[in-house]
Amino acid sequence: MEPFTEAQIRAAFINCSQGDASRIKLPADFAATPWSDLDYFGWVDPSAPLRAAMVVADEDGLRAIMLRKADRVSGRGAMRASLCQACLTSHPAGGVSLFTAAYAGPSGRNGNSVGELFCSDLACSLYLRGLRRPRSGGVRVEETLSLQERVDRELRKIHGFVRRVAEPSTAGR
Ligand SMILES: [Zn+2]
Repeated sequence: MEPFTEAQIRAAFINCSQGDASRIKLPADFAATPWSDLDYFGWVDPSAPLRAAMVVADEDGLRAIMLRKADRVSGRGAMRASLCQACLTSHPAGGVSLFTAAYAGPSGRNGNSVGELFCSDLACSLYLRGLRRPRSGGVRVEETLSLQERVDRELRKIHGFVRRVAEPSTAGR
């Protein structure tokens, strides 16, 4: 994706207050972000490990959504390897987290949200390119798809998630 500045990112949040958008801390190495290897920009607040965000660029321009990261995936299967729903990287326990986003607008302010399982570090793009590897115990599902096809699938998933956050009335369609 194209590089974006901190100011552009903070101005792009659609599902939180301006105060929240200004409070989230960017990664310490933000200046060294490898934009050309990223399909979307996601990060966990270095000062608040349950706060995260993702930024996408699509036909509607730049959109950022605030996420709440569950501290653990509970219930059956929590200890097993699990699969990121965007890049389909299989991680050992803890490598995938449930990220929840409040809907944009009144629906979100009334407490409604949508959640999805993504790589815990929101670095799907790097896993797809082999630039980051899951901790041992996780594997990339062997696929015959090209990198471009896998990136397209990842972006369909991420853009679909952001669209659900942006337009709650179309959720489920
Ligand atoms: Zn992923």
